[in-house]
Amino acid sequence: MAERFVTESIQHPDKAFELTLRPQDFSSYIGQAKVKERLELAVEAAKQRTEPVGHILLSGPPGLGKTTLAHIIARMMGSNIVVTSGPTIERAGDLAGLLTKLERGDVLFIDEIHRLPAQVEEYLYPAMEDYRLDIVIDQGPSARSVRLNLPRFTLIGATTRSGLLTAPLRSRFEITDRLDYYVAADLQQICLRSARILGVEIDNPGALEIARRSRGTPRLCNNLLRRVRDYAQVRADGHITAPIADKALAMLDIDEHGLDDMDKRLLEAIVHKYRGGPVGVSTIAVAVGEEPGTIEEVYEPFLIQEGYLQRTPQGRVATELTYKKLGVKRTGKSQSELF
Ligand code: ADP
Repeated sequence: MAERFVTESIQHPDKAFELTLRPQDFSSYIGQAKVKERLELAVEAAKQRTEPVGHILLSGPPGLGKTTLAHIIARMMGSNIVVTSGPTIERAGDLAGLLTKLERGDVLFIDEIHRLPAQVEEYLYPAMEDYRLDIVIDQGPSARSVRLNLPRFTLIGATTRSGLLTAPLRSRFEITDRLDYYVAADLQQICLRSARILGVEIDNPGALEIARRSRGTPRLCNNLLRRVRDYAQVRADGHITAPIADKALAMLDIDEHGLDDMDKRLLEAIVHKYRGGPVGVSTIAVAVGEEPGTIEEVYEPFLIQEGYLQRTPQGRVATELTYKKLGVKRTGKSQSELF
């Protein structure tokens, strides 16, 4: 498989590290059994028909393996993959540039597809549906429309905010799947696999300790493994055990449930400043000094899944578990209960 990075939205400092650890095929992709089975089947069926696989939309919080799946699919199909992201395709011309370079069966991977500008999105509809692109060249009286026929390609879109996708775009995907946070047992396997690749000595309880505190996210699990490795090397004999992982993670301010400093500040703000809520995301964002988008995409989904936060039409509300966690006694009714 040839890989062409056409545009990269974020130059990730851990890019090289991530590339080394990225599973290359379905068999080394751990967890997400249902999604994996459905995608594997779709790829197999398309291969039998010698057709490109239909367009695929993958949603879920960052770091759960959407990009990895896109690469695996392209590899299984024996196709090239072109990697780009929604916000970097600013004009229809950028999209035309990408699409016209594709060959039959190629995969176009658009990360953060919900951030595709509306005027670009309209050009994508006929490209996805009929494999054609109508572009207007020139301006004023000499403006004319030119139709370009495209080879049959597979669009794989990834999004952390599937709710922001427009209905016409969503309906043009043949397969849509959502990735959920990983259970600790799967993350433990991911941790052990990564440790093997990196040549890090770790025992099963050590891997489980890192897994339990990785917010259900493989990318974080790999990053924590690296930090714990540093700790084990400098403060111990290099071997990662559960007590070593525990000490290293405590030093990083990651508590026994995987909550970090920002999670705690966020919950504290809701409880102390807004009497447990309901409070809007933008208000919380100002209180903790973080972007509202980051709170919605990165912090909130995990806190909701773990039962610390509830999303109501009036805003976010802290739960009983949050009060317990912060060791704060609930006085009177929260604002939500007064409604
Ligand atoms: P996303 O595109 O959803 O943000 P990525 O596909 O970039 O996430 O995954 C981040 C990293 O996590 C990958 O480089 C890979 O090392 C690891 N990873 C993700 N999913 C898995 C998995 N199922 N098994 C093993 N490692 C995984």
